Amino acid sequence: MKESILETNMNLGELLLTRMKQYGDSIALIEAETGRRYTYKDVIDRVQKLTHGLRELGVRKGDVVCIWLPNHIDYGVIYLACSFLGSPVQTMNPLETDDEIFRRFQECRTKYVFTVPTQLPQLWRIRLKLTTRLKVIVFGQADNCESYEKLLQNKGERVTSDADLDPEKTPAILLSSSGTTGLSKTVQLSHSNIVVNVQQIASIYCHQPGMRCVAFLPMYHHYGGVCVLLTGLYNGLQIIVMSEFKFQTYLQLIQDHKCEILHVVPAVANLLVKQNIVDKFDLTSVKIIHCAAAPLSQDVEKSLMNKFRHRFISQTYGLSETGVVAGTSDNKHKFGSAGWITARTEVKIFDPEMGNEMPPGKFGEICVRGPQVMTGYINMREENTNAFTRDRFFKTGDIGYIDSDGFLFIVDRIKDIIKCKGHQVSPARLEDVMLKHQDVEDAAVIGMADADSGEVPQAFVVRRTGSTVTSEVLKKHVAENVPSYMKLQGDVKFIDRIPRTPSGKIMRRLLKEPNSKS
Ligand code: AMP
Repeated sequence: MKESILETNMNLGELLLTRMKQYGDSIALIEAETGRRYTYKDVIDRVQKLTHGLRELGVRKGDVVCIWLPNHIDYGVIYLACSFLGSPVQTMNPLETDDEIFRRFQECRTKYVFTVPTQLPQLWRIRLKLTTRLKVIVFGQADNCESYEKLLQNKGERVTSDADLDPEKTPAILLSSSGTTGLSKTVQLSHSNIVVNVQQIASIYCHQPGMRCVAFLPMYHHYGGVCVLLTGLYNGLQIIVMSEFKFQTYLQLIQDHKCEILHVVPAVANLLVKQNIVDKFDLTSVKIIHCAAAPLSQDVEKSLMNKFRHRFISQTYGLSETGVVAGTSDNKHKFGSAGWITARTEVKIFDPEMGNEMPPGKFGEICVRGPQVMTGYINMREENTNAFTRDRFFKTGDIGYIDSDGFLFIVDRIKDIIKCKGHQVSPARLEDVMLKHQDVEDAAVIGMADADSGEVPQAFVVRRTGSTVTSEVLKKHVAENVPSYMKLQGDVKFIDRIPRTPSGKIMRRLLKEPNSKS
């Protein structure tokens, strides 16, 4: 994509509505469970009606509106209506705990929340403690709530964004940074951040209008919300919305709708290559498989390529804070690489201890500067200072390198690195080796405190169905494939499931807790 054609100074709603007009009567969204569908015209009509409805309800520029829903066919409609009003959308995991929701509502001074009746008992509990007033908009009917459908009962005249809304300064989306360790932070992404990133992602994805995909990745996360939903609408895709992920249903939907595009995380990529049930479905419609949000082992990538012959596997890399930064596309691909740096984006690799820039091919912390990088965390002055270098490069906390051809490789996370007798041991590398073993369905490695070595790597393994592989066999397998200082010195524990965030990241903290399942 030519850099000059990137729009930056625009409201997110304007960008999407202008594009969606081109797709008219073609299908935009389908609710997987019911088959209910909206054309692009319907989506535009609903956005306009909801914008007027929310304005009548009293929603004003700057009022934070929370979407606390499982994936929903109207998720994008709410996003765009709020964009026109200049109201930042705060997204929330529907399974979040009372304490976390309370903390995030207080932090963002949330004024409105979209939800479903089943979540109301939890919401009333939380609302009792809030110091700000919270209005509730509900799908369906419930006492003391505004009805979503009633908000749409107006003529839905054309809407335009507020003229004095500065796209670079006005927050469009407030995401929770994944916080697999410590407390989560609220990431502020401006209209310009999202507007640019949607175009950057579109240029990596190379989708054609009318192509079909299933949206099961959580829309409260950057991958599901921005890459799948908003970029999908921008590209004119037909998006089948799944409110809850079930692997078999997912396969059925791909087959029934003849989907060309899959958006997955490595845990799902792993299921696609290792679960026999996949062979019972006709997935020959699939042309492109996108994978992001966590490290994809080269082995799984190759197996995926073999299984889906001639299909193209594309990785993208990014964070909630930076949006998508790199990606592989059809003509720019290397195994194991997270891809090329997107247009208008600079990536530098710094030595995390010394701070100097590393030459091509050398590891260091990946730091990013570009128009898609967040304006900052809410209410976190110190974190905002520490998050950036003096030149405003965002410090990702990921370790990686750029090879001489310009491909970015992610090696590990700084925080996850295990220090064993002073050596750096990468859990991602050990997991990769374990996954290569035919009896291993899933694996996670953590560092356990050890009096002699400081820390030693310990593994958690999900065996393939029917396997009785022992811990000794797996330790030997690892020892044969890594330098001696990386050997699994701690136990190998067999468990039923590796705890992961909905975007596929291993929740190592849970595995470190002494009472975690074993
Ligand atoms: P989040 O803010 O939840 O999107 O998490 C961002 C983190 O996910 C990054 O800092 C990486 O550690 C990880 N991540 C995202 N994409 C990739 C990728 N393609 N390969 C490896 N790790 C990734």
